[in-house]
Amino acid sequence: MGLEKRKQISIRGIVGVENVAELKKGFNRHLHFTLVKDRNVATPRDYYFALAHTVRDHLVGRWIRTQQFYYEADPKRVYYLSLEFYMGRALQNTMINLGLQNASGVGYGGSGRDGRRSCFLDSMATLGLAAYGYGIRYEYGIFNQKIKDGWQVEEADDWLRYGNPWEKARPEFMLPVHFYGRVEEEDGKEPKWVDTQVVLAMPYDTPIPGYMNNTVNTMRLWSARAPNDFNLRDFNVGDYIQAVLDRNLAENISRVLYPNDNFFEGKELRLKQEYFVVAATLQDVIRRFKTSKRNCSGPLSFDSFPDKVAIQLNDTHPAMAIPELMRIFVDIEKLDWDTAWNITKQTFAYTNHTVLPEALERWPVELMEKLLPRHLQIIYRINQIHLDVTSLFPDDMDRICRMSLIEEEGGKRVNMAHLCIVGSHKVNGVAEIHSDIVKRDVFRDFNELEPEKFQNKTNGITPRRWLLLCNPGLADLIAEAIGEEYVKDLNQLQKLNDLVDYDAFIRDVAKVKQDNKLKFAQYLEKVYKVDINPASMFDVHVKRIHEYKRQLLNCLHVITMYNRIKRSPIKPFVPRTVIIGGKAAPGYHMAKMIIKLITSVADVVNNDPVIGRKLKVIYLENYRVSLAEKVIPATDLSEQISTAGTEASGTGNMKFMLNGALTIGTMDGANVEMAEEAGEENLFIFGMRVEDVAKMDKEGYDALQYYESLPELKQAINQIKSGYFSPKQPEMFSDIINMLFHHDRFKVFADYESYVKCQERVSALYKDQREWTRVVIKNIAASGKFSSDRTIKEYATEIWGVEPTDLKIPPPSEPREALEETARALRKN
Ligand SMILES: *Cc1c(COP(=O)(O)O)cnc(C)c1O
Repeated sequence: MGLEKRKQISIRGIVGVENVAELKKGFNRHLHFTLVKDRNVATPRDYYFALAHTVRDHLVGRWIRTQQFYYEADPKRVYYLSLEFYMGRALQNTMINLGLQNASGVGYGGSGRDGRRSCFLDSMATLGLAAYGYGIRYEYGIFNQKIKDGWQVEEADDWLRYGNPWEKARPEFMLPVHFYGRVEEEDGKEPKWVDTQVVLAMPYDTPIPGYMNNTVNTMRLWSARAPNDFNLRDFNVGDYIQAVLDRNLAENISRVLYPNDNFFEGKELRLKQEYFVVAATLQDVIRRFKTSKRNCSGPLSFDSFPDKVAIQLNDTHPAMAIPELMRIFVDIEKLDWDTAWNITKQTFAYTNHTVLPEALERWPVELMEKLLPRHLQIIYRINQIHLDVTSLFPDDMDRICRMSLIEEEGGKRVNMAHLCIVGSHKVNGVAEIHSDIVKRDVFRDFNELEPEKFQNKTNGITPRRWLLLCNPGLADLIAEAIGEEYVKDLNQLQKLNDLVDYDAFIRDVAKVKQDNKLKFAQYLEKVYKVDINPASMFDVHVKRIHEYKRQLLNCLHVITMYNRIKRSPIKPFVPRTVIIGGKAAPGYHMAKMIIKLITSVADVVNNDPVIGRKLKVIYLENYRVSLAEKVIPATDLSEQISTAGTEASGTGNMKFMLNGALTIGTMDGANVEMAEEAGEENLFIFGMRVEDVAKMDKEGYDALQYYESLPELKQAINQIKSGYFSPKQPEMFSDIINMLFHHDRFKVFADYESYVKCQERVSALYKDQREWTRVVIKNIAASGKFSSDRTIKEYATEIWGVEPTDLKIPPPSEPREALEETARALRKN
């Protein structure tokens, strides 16, 4: 274990001797009583679990306290609904936020899952918001990626096999969710949803600690359970064994996360998942509202509901929350339609995450009618009123059709984005350029009808995970230079601009990067048996594999560099290690071919003696948060090269900037704002702007013309086409070639020349390490805007109607009266 005895002071927490002794005691107790092991038989995993339980013990008091505090102060609650939370590694994060980080060297690999969106939970807790994350407890998270013979192979991620020390099951709060059935409509009576099938939703709670503020919020994930009488009542009477076996059918709802990224696949099980989380969560929300201090004492009224509840829809995935809340208000709570609709609209806000048409959810009416018949009726009624209102404005039939919640052509479908816009009081995009496109193009008609509804909230990342946790060397260096306050106020990084000419600081920053690169090189060597040159530029392109993210453009640059070295082997060349990684959706053929092409190019490049140590290509297997934490601090060059107008924001770009990588990128997503913050001259910006892409769409994109006029592009394409990288199967990449020439929606060839020239500027600057590092410092200094604390503050004040607070909840060591006093102080605010 190596628990350090001496008192350590660092940005990552102050740990006294007493604290260390206490942690040690807890650790030994858990190893013995919880894991039932002694040191002779304990495995590394046992040690990890013992430490996790010990750290968890430090959370529990604060967790209970925080929830008591919310009950006493009764602030407005914020509910963040998402189908994609599944936690990253909690241990290190918890230790940092509790100030326990330096009590031990954490070397255990708790298996990592993709923890996208957990940045927001961290910031909400750090800002003291009474917030809850709600989602599904998938038994299998995003698949594990294996690369076999250069191809992606998927493996199930059985992350719960050894148990999860962070979650607490709450079977006492289990709730029913209904599916199927029919709507009974008798004259003069309200419609009734009857003959439904019931599935139970079991909550599992995970603590979300804020940074050094005694706040611990809750993430509640639902797991599907069959009721004990499942299949034993009606037709299956008598077949007890079969009925028990069939419980799997109901419990499949929370079995597995759909691994698509930016792609809508209209599967019934997915719609069940979406409604499952919504139905369980809204019952919880309403129970909490009804049992709040003031509603318990006075008569119940829902008029104050929007003052007490804000619900954020993360993408359209939880969109069924809108008709579900209407169903609860109208059918169960007996509110009249207009009252219910006004409360509903004031409660919801919707975040759009993509403008790619293939990603937009459009559920077949037929499927929805079968699975959720009452909700479909409600959606039709919402639509009827919406279209009546719409037609008061420019009476053009085309516009009314475009704005309908129900699409008619090619089979009736419910447009979930339209439902979200109509049912919310605010709609936001996730970067300035994306929000502009949302207003100008995708939802233009809606913006013309209600312009005050549309906003921007530029994404952010948590500096706790994406700097303190993953890059302690840089975090400590910054703390030495400007103090520790930047962790809660990332704009203070601007102070680093004063140090941009100090040789000692430049040297220290370069040293931290070099140490991180060495460490990552050693990791690759150990785990993948690859030898990389730590003196080379680490050129990193890691994100989901998708045509719009243009890994193919990077691949063409790699081939171009290869050909240049082969042509002039003795000409000086700035050595590079190109690292590409990411998962492809299992059903996305083109993305899987792109992986095979990259691994095939890597095979040729890495085994060519003429190339030597000048150029290496690594495919980083199974890219996930825990791997991102390793590779990002070791990166020199961050690749953010999507076709302008296609990447909504990106968050990878921000992580790299904060960790001292320079960006080569298009004017897309948050890259635009990164260039604005750091100065365009401090990023490597290339390629078409959104306007150029739009013009080309109008005038036509001719891939062949670029191929014919750019000899190096022609050579690279000819090599792929002729089997240079796949000699045993020369036709291997014909689908890619065919796409690039005839139906490339993302115009790879159009940006090739500009990209390659920009890469030459990158290499030129890299030769001057001092100047390179000065630009790195300017980038870090300009990255403060991209803290998710800033993002969440904007959501809080401009959408949710709540104020972040610096009030510190009294720790469990202080008496209950202190808590009540703080609660009074908050109520007064
Ligand atoms: C941050 C992150 C992403 C998002 O990357 P983009 O470059 O914004 O697409 C994807 N996967 C993992 C594991 C991440 O940590």
